[in-house]
Amino acid sequence: MNKKSFVPANQCSTGVLPPYMLFELATRAGNERYLDTLSTTMRMHRRSQKQQSANPFARFAGAGNSSIEVYDCNGGESRPGSKARFEGEPATGNKDVDSAYDFTLAVRKYYAEVHGRNGIDAHGMTMVSSVNYGDRYNNAYWDGRQMTYGKGDQEIFASFVILDVAGHEVTHGVTEFEANLRYYKQAGALNESHSDIFGKMIEAYSKNQPVEQIDWVLGRGIFMPGIKGEGIRNMLKPGTAYNDARLGKDPQPDHYSKLYTGSSDNGGVHYNSGIVNRAFANWVIAMGGFEWKKGAKIWFAARAAAGSNPTFAQHAYHTVEACKALGTAADVKKLQDAWELVGVKPSNKVSHDNDGGDDVDVVA
Ligand SMILES: [Zn+2]
Repeated sequence: MNKKSFVPANQCSTGVLPPYMLFELATRAGNERYLDTLSTTMRMHRRSQKQQSANPFARFAGAGNSSIEVYDCNGGESRPGSKARFEGEPATGNKDVDSAYDFTLAVRKYYAEVHGRNGIDAHGMTMVSSVNYGDRYNNAYWDGRQMTYGKGDQEIFASFVILDVAGHEVTHGVTEFEANLRYYKQAGALNESHSDIFGKMIEAYSKNQPVEQIDWVLGRGIFMPGIKGEGIRNMLKPGTAYNDARLGKDPQPDHYSKLYTGSSDNGGVHYNSGIVNRAFANWVIAMGGFEWKKGAKIWFAARAAAGSNPTFAQHAYHTVEACKALGTAADVKKLQDAWELVGVKPSNKVSHDNDGGDDVDVVA
């Protein structure tokens, strides 16, 4: 097996914060810090590509126990940074270090117990996190090798070490190994949506919540007091997560008829993910209780079946097929209703809507 083929360059940098949010912040506030975040991300992206070609997953090969390693960058840009807390070690008293450790543990437990999966690559790859990356860095990333979290500027953003954000980042890794999904247009929006959905399911599993108690806001707590926003995205009501003079308004469309078709954000990967998030949220709410676990298993199966460059319609088709195999007729009907709600017609027809794109120029 060629491990290298699992680490496509187009997916190396997949931050939880969309580039359009950073551009809005830089434009409105005249604050170059937000543009600095983007350029740092690009540098990091190039560096991680170089590291990968020199040493693709060498230390992750073979079976393992997905042991947890947390490092502290101490505000610097050298990763992974200094050793902070490894598997089995006691709490350090450093909140970001201990939270990153606990959240990675929650993510590992979810994938093991709900999906029977041994870590990110299913072979026990070590789960490496670096916290306190960069000078008040405003993002969290999966780069093909590890998770990286900024502390936030402490003006608009607080720390990025948040449970559903950690779940989001690790899920980028799982998606890479499971589906090798592109990070462009609709396939890229599905990649982002998978991270939001499983990030939220990891939180629900960790808190043992029935669907009625799930908080569909991703990244709640990420804004400092005074910012008019509840989080980065609202999965149930896309486009309503924030509306602030410094941030602008959440631009996510909530229906396929309003699909973003521009070229920024890798063809709208963080814009259009909301459409799929909304379908999933409405479906599992309709099923009720703890049926979201079945929903997550069906979504997991559909992701692998849909290949590396699906449109929303193709992904929807595979969710319906997986639901026929793993769910009841009533579940299938509710799923079809959820797709109809967001204007997506399940279809396995091969489409060329998702062709083109630059596989390397990823900035977020
Ligand atoms: Zn992401």
